Amino acid sequence: MRKEIEQLAKIINDSNSIVFFGGAGVSTESNIPDFRSETGLYNAVQKYGQSPETMLSHSFFNGHLETFYDYYKNNLIYTNAKPNKAHLALAKLESEGKLKAIVTQNIDGLHQLAGSKAVYELHGSVLRNNCMRCGEPYDLSYIMQPGNCKDKEGIKTLIPVCKKCGGTVKPDVVLYEECLDDHVIQGAVDAISNADTLIVGGTSLVVYPAAGLINYFHGKSLVLINKSQTQYDHKANLIIYDAIGKVLGEVCGI
Ligand code: ZN
Repeated sequence: MRKEIEQLAKIINDSNSIVFFGGAGVSTESNIPDFRSETGLYNAVQKYGQSPETMLSHSFFNGHLETFYDYYKNNLIYTNAKPNKAHLALAKLESEGKLKAIVTQNIDGLHQLAGSKAVYELHGSVLRNNCMRCGEPYDLSYIMQPGNCKDKEGIKTLIPVCKKCGGTVKPDVVLYEECLDDHVIQGAVDAISNADTLIVGGTSLVVYPAAGLINYFHGKSLVLINKSQTQYDHKANLIIYDAIGKVLGEVCGI
């Protein structure tokens, strides 16, 4: 481990344009469980009789709004979650001019909370919400307030309602069956294409579109930091099988 930390420190020192690509493992170290994990699947099926992928799909949102919000609010929202050492280390590297962008599959907004500015959120963010009818933006606390979730008769529901027009408020999160945002994808592709170092952490690189995006990297050093093997291990210049927060925290002195 010590030798690998030194190797990573040298790679970072020699780089001027680092991009970090992160998956669920970055968030789990802030105690945000991965809903796609075996435990996540088991819990969802036990309580709702449905898989997370089904309940987080566009068609399920349209047909079962109350259950969608029940699952969503109880399994994807962690209002007390704090940035961990991985988030803090990446924010530090950006402030030092080393890191140019973060591309993330997570939707919790913890990178921004840690101070990162250039963040491409492939799957959106739970922090942003919009009225589906008039477009009015709402923050997370608004949609979590029971007083903002009523139907036309004033009966309490879990469905957040726009205070301006009475429309349904939808999270800016990419649901299954929905397309990723073109601008976000393009920004991520440009950042990865121009990077001299790509650090991939906390992802096994099987979730779409992770694997495809990695192929845009043509820089010098590909670094993989993950607890288990990935299909890209053979392409990496450095592989560290460990927790992402621990590794980046140590390298950046956090
Ligand atoms: Zn509205």
